[in-house]
Amino acid sequence: MTNPLTQYFRQPSIYIKLPSQGQNYPAGTLNMPTNGELPVYPMTAIDEITYRTPDALFNGQATVNVIQSCVPAIKDAWAIPSIDLDTVLIAIRIASYGHDMDFGTTCPACEKTSERTVDLRTMLDALRAPDYNGHINYSDLEIYFRPLNYKNLNDNSQLQYEQQKLLQIIPDTTISEVEKMTALTKAFKQLTDITVQSLALSIVAIKTPHALVNEPEYINDFLKNCDRELFNQIRDHVMKLRELSELQPLKLACDSCNHQYEQALTLDMTSFFAPAS
Ligand SMILES: [Zn+2]
Repeated sequence: MTNPLTQYFRQPSIYIKLPSQGQNYPAGTLNMPTNGELPVYPMTAIDEITYRTPDALFNGQATVNVIQSCVPAIKDAWAIPSIDLDTVLIAIRIASYGHDMDFGTTCPACEKTSERTVDLRTMLDALRAPDYNGHINYSDLEIYFRPLNYKNLNDNSQLQYEQQKLLQIIPDTTISEVEKMTALTKAFKQLTDITVQSLALSIVAIKTPHALVNEPEYINDFLKNCDRELFNQIRDHVMKLRELSELQPLKLACDSCNHQYEQALTLDMTSFFAPAS
């Protein structure tokens, strides 16, 4: 029997097109509607509570649960390519609390603080997907790229957080200076490994005249052993693609001294999803 209350359940508030157009989603992780527009539902009370659990926030599971609840066409939110993430999160914020978002700002010139409002629909329209079809040619190699997915991003930031915390606490521990140096060197090396790992995951394949290599461990090995010039070229390419997909900072003018400045809009979960009062 169907629950007669079903018709009173929440309805989609808005529809979004993904910047990736559904590319880079493994089979079964996305049910792409034929018109390419995904319905976005407002958060339920349970979603809101999920978001306020600090541990869940830190390991990314809360974000995944809320995305799958509000954008049911996305079956596995860990698979979302980084270039779609801001679009999805902003859409959920709009669907849940409306398109106006208040934020505070401090003028860097005269330090006057003021309250502003941003129309999130404008932010949504301004998001662009960088072109991941381009590749790098280097001697007889062709290197192809892809965006990281949410799982990669989350693993990466957790590992970085752990190593950075280590780097902070090591100097204050009671171990000998020699042991401190060893521990610091190890933490720095691990930070470097995390960077290389994240670059390796951004490479979908490397074509040689004789082979197409897409095994992550081979690509990882290659990055650790290729010459510096190529490594830097790959790193710059990945950084450029990443920057192109990021939210542009807001351009603000101080009402007191007229100073013009930019402020990044934070999608930090705790503040971004605090309900509009
Ligand atoms: Zn000012």
